Amino acid sequence: MGFDNVLITGAGGFLGSHLTERLLKKGHRVIAVDNFCTGLKSNRPYLESLPEAQDRLFFVEADVTAPWEPWLKNLPDFVLKKVSHVLHFASPASPPLYQEMALETMWVNSIGTNRAMEFADGVGARVVFASTSEIYGDPDITPQPESYWGNVNTVGIRSCYDEAKRFGESLIFTHNLKKNTRHGFVRIFNTYGPRMNPSDGRVVINLLVQALDGKPLTIFGEGKQTRSFCYVDDLCAGIELYAQSELTEPVNIGNDREFTILELAQIVQRMFPEKKLDIRFMEMPKDDPRQRRPDLTKAKKHLQGWAPRIALEDGLVHMRRWLESQARA
Ligand code: UDP
Repeated sequence: MGFDNVLITGAGGFLGSHLTERLLKKGHRVIAVDNFCTGLKSNRPYLESLPEAQDRLFFVEADVTAPWEPWLKNLPDFVLKKVSHVLHFASPASPPLYQEMALETMWVNSIGTNRAMEFADGVGARVVFASTSEIYGDPDITPQPESYWGNVNTVGIRSCYDEAKRFGESLIFTHNLKKNTRHGFVRIFNTYGPRMNPSDGRVVINLLVQALDGKPLTIFGEGKQTRSFCYVDDLCAGIELYAQSELTEPVNIGNDREFTILELAQIVQRMFPEKKLDIRFMEMPKDDPRQRRPDLTKAKKHLQGWAPRIALEDGLVHMRRWLESQARA
């Protein structure tokens, strides 16, 4: 199912802004919706200044948990009627921010997902919901295939996010079943790249910001826990292919090269040899997953040979350059 006009929630955020740019550059109109509760404010002027945005980007500052009618009615009919896809990416995504905005996180992934589907059904569009590897919780098996049901604490500090995303998945599944629709969702593994909010708190941006400031790199626990880091362009390519497909089942999207957090910190140390960065070991947060690595068999099979291509070492250089350009601006 090819794209026509696309509505992206969370378009001012990290992933949403990359998807917006990508689709604008492919010639589509984008309705970009965000309330900037976590997204970097400068992402809006960045997107609006793209030559491709001039008569094709419609930016709306709104909370997608609240009714959509007040802003939908201000959008031109010819744009709304031809919306083929709704990419529902609005949600805090970093552990410190989703814990701070725990209830908002629960509502945007439940009520917000329902509103996205109601709108989409009205115009005949397909929703793609940003689910997450967090639905696997602290996994007992590695790598994690989509068939794994997960190991999630319902009453822990991460449950507001994990369970909200699980509910979002379940809502889409049930909505499809009852209303005969074909909405879908992708399970996104740790992703990094330019336009992350520097105060977001996730490990890659944290370590790079600390390195640029010449501060010690913070590692939670002993750094033996693992993550598998995907560069944002690889992720967006996979999401685009999933959206264009007719798939309604979950597909993992990420990079399956696995690193301990200590290894990540050592890579960052080697990127800045002149800074002689120390490592500061800090208390391990509760319920922090011990391992995480996507099984990408399904993605490779169903997404036209898609595979992540950008090595962590190269992606980190792109991200460093972007951070340095921000510091100069
Ligand atoms: N982490 C760390 N130092 C930091 C931030 C995070 O050691 O400054 C660890 C965190 O405990 C987790 C991993 O890095 O084990 C990835 O954390 P992140 O917040 O990026 O996302 P998560 O995958 O836990 O959702």
